[in-house]
Amino acid sequence: ALPQSERIDLHLDERAAPLRDDYRVGFTYSDCFVDDARLVVLTARDAADRGAIVRTRCECQHAKREDNAWVLSLESHDTTETVRARTLINSCGPWVRSFLDRIGVPSRHNVRLVKGSHIVVPRLYEGDHAFLLQNTDDRVTFVIPFHDQFTLIGTTEVAVTDAHNPQCSDEEARYLCDAVNRYFRVPVTVDSILWSYAGVRPLFDDGSSKMSRVTRDYALELDVHGAPILTVFGGKLTTYRSLSEKAVDKLRPWLPEAGPTWTATAPLPGGDMSATQAASLGEELARAHSAVEPATLRALLRRHGSRAREILEACGGDLGAIRAGNLTDQEAAWLVEHEWAKTDEDLLWRRTKAGLSSLVRDPDGR
Ligand SMILES: Cc1cc2nc3c(=O)[nH]c(=O)nc-3n(C[C@H](O)[C@H](O)[C@H](O)COP(=O)(O)OP(=O)(O)OC[C@H]3O[C@@H](n4cnc5c(N)ncnc54)[C@H](O)[C@@H]3O)c2cc1C
Repeated sequence: ALPQSERIDLHLDERAAPLRDDYRVGFTYSDCFVDDARLVVLTARDAADRGAIVRTRCECQHAKREDNAWVLSLESHDTTETVRARTLINSCGPWVRSFLDRIGVPSRHNVRLVKGSHIVVPRLYEGDHAFLLQNTDDRVTFVIPFHDQFTLIGTTEVAVTDAHNPQCSDEEARYLCDAVNRYFRVPVTVDSILWSYAGVRPLFDDGSSKMSRVTRDYALELDVHGAPILTVFGGKLTTYRSLSEKAVDKLRPWLPEAGPTWTATAPLPGGDMSATQAASLGEELARAHSAVEPATLRALLRRHGSRAREILEACGGDLGAIRAGNLTDQEAAWLVEHEWAKTDEDLLWRRTKAGLSSLVRDPDGR
């Protein structure tokens, strides 16, 4: 169980050391965290292990109903393929509504596109705790330890009309620095930003006038004028399993072979062990592969859990040269074979965050 929330005196609690003296009272709470990119790719890996066909870099160009089935036109690189399906789930995120419009399916719902940006700076403080800072505009800003040497600061809420290629603007970067500087002793400047990234939230449009008040809940809409199509409006990673089970429940009449729901406690690939077992696996692998750098082994365990053993055994413990950060040749080969990695960007920024190592500045700030 996670520890209970507490009220703390910020002048007495050493975790509050980075904060300015103006603040006296704080509250603590404990939560879990996840690496979102690993969660998504391991969910896809799990589906593939259970028989799903996963296609990355593949766009559904068009879909039409024909004889109680969907006929989809899929395009990847320069090949187009036609497939038939009994049911179709539209989970195109920011593009859910435009996809429905493209295939001519009417809908009562829409999404509000809200950009959120993050900045990454050199690590601001020691410890594995995060800060949640109250802003002057009713929003909160988080400050989170990020991959050992960095601190992640986010996020913003900016209404956008186009979800392609979102970027953190100068204004958003300044907003995030200001939010931190209201509380932290050592100021964060725009010059200290090493990396930034942005995404677009497809929030279910509940008609709220204020963006921070728009629901983070989701709606599932089923259209059965012919073969069924289920559309997912909104949602969160946090609730992805219950959302998916509800989606399957809605489609049960067309999927009679679907068994009872089972995902609530099922581990993802590599997650089939407790925290204690994970610690002993780490010790066991360190003993068996003493030539592997401890930091490389830690990264392998963090990304692959119990599958780290398979990766090490497959190469006889010789992980090869370091590509970047703590990514080795053999892990890269695993990511290509098992996790659909195709480009350097996939390897360095999506399947891992090994690319962050290129951002570390020397003491002169270069
Ligand atoms: C800044 C930000 C912060 C967030 N923070 C949190 C958080 O702290 N906790 C949390 O739980 N959630 C958070 N979320 C929300 C979370 O990221 C989303 O709920 C989640 O990504 C939704 O997943 P999805 O698969 O439905 O949609 P998406 O992740 O948007 O994926 C949709 C996919 O569909 C693809 N696609 C679109 N059209 C087509 C087509 N025609 N053919 C094939 N593919 C297509 C797109 O390329 C995309 O890959 C955050 C989101 C953002 C942007």
